[in-house]
Amino acid sequence: MMHANDGADAPYWNGLAEGRLLLPRCRCGDWLWPAANHCAACGGEEIAWVDRPMRATIFSWTRTWHRFGLTESLDLPFVSIVATIDDCGIRLLGRLDDPDQLDPVIGEAIAGRSGATRVEGRDIPTIIWSRG
Ligand SMILES: [Zn+2]
Repeated sequence: MMHANDGADAPYWNGLAEGRLLLPRCRCGDWLWPAANHCAACGGEEIAWVDRPMRATIFSWTRTWHRFGLTESLDLPFVSIVATIDDCGIRLLGRLDDPDQLDPVIGEAIAGRSGATRVEGRDIPTIIWSRG
């Protein structure tokens, strides 16, 4: 989960840190994820970072009861959600705002906001998902 901020996805992380969801789209219309410097569909290099609403549907989710890796700063349990962003199909990992809720439902509409997860003394921008 460590991210250098100079990779192809740097605008995503920098945007999230400012409360925006920026996603890369080629001139041909294809969304590129993971972010890349070339479009896999057309080979183009004209990639624009487009502001998207943080609205999505749940693709998959996991409730975590035990610590692993770099999650030491999170209260347990926590709920990770992979959600498909509306109208572009990109799937992004985030965390549910209130892990004590009833289980999320695949296909459920959710809305996100930007937050942070503390990892080894650094705040990593994170999408915090809310239901209904
Ligand atoms: Zn393209």
